[in-house]
Amino acid sequence: DYKVEILMKRLMIVVPAYNEEEALPKTLDVLDGVLSDLIETNKVDKASKIVIVNDGSADKTWSIIEDAAAKNDHISGINFSRNYGHQNALIAGLTATRDYGDIFVTIDADLQDDVNAIPKMVAENANGFDIVYGARNSRETDSAFKRGTAEMFYKIMGKLGVEMVPDSADYRLMSQRAVDHLLEFKEHNLFLRGIVPRVGFPSTVVYYARKEREAGESKYPLKKMINFAWDGITSFSVAPMRFILAVGIFSMVIAVGMMIYAIYRELTGHTVAGWSSLMVSLWFIGGFQLIGISILGEYIGKIFNEVKDRPRYVIQDNLLSNQDFDDKQAEKHLDDGMGEV
Ligand code: UDP
Ligand code: MG
Repeated sequence: DYKVEILMKRLMIVVPAYNEEEALPKTLDVLDGVLSDLIETNKVDKASKIVIVNDGSADKTWSIIEDAAAKNDHISGINFSRNYGHQNALIAGLTATRDYGDIFVTIDADLQDDVNAIPKMVAENANGFDIVYGARNSRETDSAFKRGTAEMFYKIMGKLGVEMVPDSADYRLMSQRAVDHLLEFKEHNLFLRGIVPRVGFPSTVVYYARKEREAGESKYPLKKMINFAWDGITSFSVAPMRFILAVGIFSMVIAVGMMIYAIYRELTGHTVAGWSSLMVSLWFIGGFQLIGISILGEYIGKIFNEVKDRPRYVIQDNLLSNQDFDDKQAEKHLDDGMGEV
C-alpha cells in the first residue's frame, strides 16, 4: 500500500514594516494564527511562511523579527540597509520569496486590512484566479479628509487612464507567474497598484472592512501621501520643477488679476493703446510657459531616474537564506512549477 501525497501550494505572506515595533508583535501573532489554520485545514503547504521586510526602521522592528524567526519556522525576514519605501519593500519581499512560494499575499504591518480575507483569497486562487485584490467595502474608519483625497485621487487617476481597482491598496494575492511578470516591470518609479492590473491574468476582488491601525502611527503623513499620489500620476518628480510649476500657477493667477485691472483702466480711459492686451498676455503666456516647462521637466526627471538605473534597494540581512528549507519538498515543487497536483 502507498500514500498518495497531494502537493499543496506554498503561501508566502509578505509584510513591509517601517518603525512598526508597536504593531508588529500582535501582527505576527495574528498572521501566524491565520497561516496555522490554513496549514491545518490543508489549504496551503506547511512550507508556507510569513516574511517581514524591515524597511530601514529606526526602532526595534528588526530585533522583533529576528526573535520571532528564531522561535517560529513559519516566520522569516529581510532587513534593508536603510529606508527605501513601502513599494520597494514589497518588491524586495516578492523577489526574495519568489523561489520558496507558489502564491504570495502582501499585507501591511498594521493589520488595518482584515486578515480573514487571506483564506478567501487563497480560496479564490484555488478557483483559478492568479490575482485576487483585497478591496475595502467602506472607508468609515478613515478621516473625512483622507476619504475625500483618496476619492479625488482615484478619479484623477481614472481620467488619466491609469487602470486601478478602486479602494484596493497593496493587499492582494498573486500567483507565482503573476509575480514573475510583475518583477519584469523594472521601473524605479514604482506604483504597484497601477502596475499589477497591467500584468493581466484572471483576477477577482475580495471585499473586507478596513479597520483602524492597531498600534503606532501612520507612516504616511499628509506630505508622504501627496508625494505618493503625485508619483502615481507622473511616475516621478523633481523638486525644482515643482517649484517652477508653482511659480507658473502664481503667474497665471496674477494674469487674471491684471486682466481685471486692465479692463478697469481701459473702461476708465486711463490707458495707452495696446497696454491692456500686452499686460495680460505677458503674465498669462509667462505662466503658461512655466507650467509647460515644469511638466516637461517632470518627465525628463523621470527619465533621469530610470537611466541611472540604481538598485531599488539594498538588503543587509536575509533570514530566508539562513533558514533550512525542506529540500526535498522544495525540489518537488520546483519540478512541477506551480505546485499543483
Ligand atoms: N511602510 C514601509 N516603508 C515606509 C512607509 C511605510 O515599509 O517608508 C509600511 C508600513 O510599515 C506599513 C505599510 O507600509 O506596513 C503601510 O503604511 P501605513 O500603514 O503607515 O500607511 P496608511 O495605512 O496610513 O496609508
Ligand atoms: Mg496603515
